[in-house]
Amino acid sequence: MSEATVTTVDNPVLVVGAGPVGLVAACELARRGVPVRVIDRSRTPVAQSKAIIVWPRTLELLAGLGIADEMVAAGHQLDGVRFHSNGSVLGSVTVSQLPDSRYNHVLMLPQWETERFLQARYAELGGVIEWGAELTDLSQDDDGVTVTLATKDGPVEKAVVSWVVGADGAHSTVRKLVGIEYTVHTPNMTFAIADAPVAGPVDQRYLHYCYSAKGAIGVGPLGDGVFRFAVNVKDGQQPDRELFQAALNDRAGGMGTVGEPKWSALFQVRCATADRFRAGRVFLAGDAAHVVSPAGGQGLNTGIHDAVNLGWKLAGVVNGQLRERILDSYHEERHEAVRRVSAVTDKQTRWGLITDPAKVLVRDLLARAAALTGVLQRLATPLFCQTDLHYGPALAWWKLLRYPAIRVGGRLPYLADECGASPLPTLVLSPGAENVPATLPYTLPVKQLPAGRLASLLGPAKALLVRPDGHILAVAPADRPEALVRALRPVLTDGATILKGRTR
Ligand SMILES: Cc1cc2nc3c(=O)[nH]c(=O)nc-3n(C[C@H](O)[C@H](O)[C@H](O)COP(=O)(O)OP(=O)(O)OC[C@H]3O[C@@H](n4cnc5c(N)ncnc54)[C@H](O)[C@@H]3O)c2cc1C
Repeated sequence: MSEATVTTVDNPVLVVGAGPVGLVAACELARRGVPVRVIDRSRTPVAQSKAIIVWPRTLELLAGLGIADEMVAAGHQLDGVRFHSNGSVLGSVTVSQLPDSRYNHVLMLPQWETERFLQARYAELGGVIEWGAELTDLSQDDDGVTVTLATKDGPVEKAVVSWVVGADGAHSTVRKLVGIEYTVHTPNMTFAIADAPVAGPVDQRYLHYCYSAKGAIGVGPLGDGVFRFAVNVKDGQQPDRELFQAALNDRAGGMGTVGEPKWSALFQVRCATADRFRAGRVFLAGDAAHVVSPAGGQGLNTGIHDAVNLGWKLAGVVNGQLRERILDSYHEERHEAVRRVSAVTDKQTRWGLITDPAKVLVRDLLARAAALTGVLQRLATPLFCQTDLHYGPALAWWKLLRYPAIRVGGRLPYLADECGASPLPTLVLSPGAENVPATLPYTLPVKQLPAGRLASLLGPAKALLVRPDGHILAVAPADRPEALVRALRPVLTDGATILKGRTR
């Protein structure tokens, strides 16, 4: 190996890993004018189906990047999720009835396609992915991070950057090099997964979770009669056609005849969460920060949410518009969000694998009661869609029954995807609050709401501050905007805070 060449800082941010999460982080930075360097040790993009479910909140976030509508056009849209026990329906979560998002469906799209859209968007933003470049070492001080990069044939390079985003997957080198513990909360589970055609009466409008005394099977329609199967298996079982047919018969009460899989694999999962998502100038995102149970189809989605949460904050800090302390909120917000997603998906996994007849009876009775009373639809739809994600103190569950709602920390209903162009919060005004921008000491993007569902939910003469990721920072009546100023002061730098006629 040749001597390391040392380069200087020409890109303030290095993103390690060009998987979906690294690419979202890179796009979020690049679209706000921050130069980024993206490396991946793989020599070429990997075309694997892997994660296939994209939930509405993720589409809202990707709409900010301008790729959600193309993804929707390329994928297969489902009405929702249906739960079955021993061949009979327990209840459904109908995402098509989600009232406050224009993405009110479950999108089924193979991961390699999601990655293809992200690669194209990053290229449009002027970005280049350095395939075949691996991060092998890293050290940091107050001024920057020194990284060692190895390419398969080329020279070893040492570079100094200001910030590193470790989006390098579950076995993250970045995480290990900064010494962050990865705490395992659910030990090894093995799933056989396949994409295979089915001839038979499977309802192609729903993602099916089928539970039985013999185990569970997830059946996800991918369109054109092809389905994703996920089956919990014991060691030594092979992910072949016979296994999926037997699982469909024994665990789902039939549903059809499975054809030859287009693709199959054994997928070992060990659910874990990094103790910290930040160490100084280094951040972890996606699988590098957490692996959640695949039962809920939330892993990839949750990683994308990390990348968006971090992207606007880091862009604002690098551009000198946001105070550096905002970066602390990345760990605080995302670690708690991941704890919640992990708790829900772990429960979903455990409930699906119950075999004790008395416990099965209780589970099924509770699920049927929740479905009949509408509680399942009301609570589980926003939960699965991640549209009820709330940054701030936890809310009592009965408060979540009120949906959609405007709450500080919650996502803006209806228009969450329309406030992300700048790293600065957007001032959203209901009719009657037109005077508010003139009373604030800051110049912010402004959105005047026409009369409509959001304006009536907000009420007349109200002003909202909405973060670039669509979460609400503050709400105030038009004649008392002090709460808005109080929320902005710790976030914006002096450079970004322009008082009319003078600088703060
Ligand atoms: C077979 C399989 C099936 C799956 N099915 C599902 C599913 O149904 N639902 C679901 O939600 N999730 C599923 N997942 C998980 C999902 O694919 C991950 O959550 C997702 O890929 C995480 O994205 P990421 O960008 O964080 O990491 P990754 O996609 O793992 O990307 C990390 C990237 O970092 C690169 N890298 C690693 N180390 C270095 C280094 N030192 N230097 C430079 N580059 C490096 C890698 O080459 C890779 O490209 C599945 C995963 C697998 C393997």
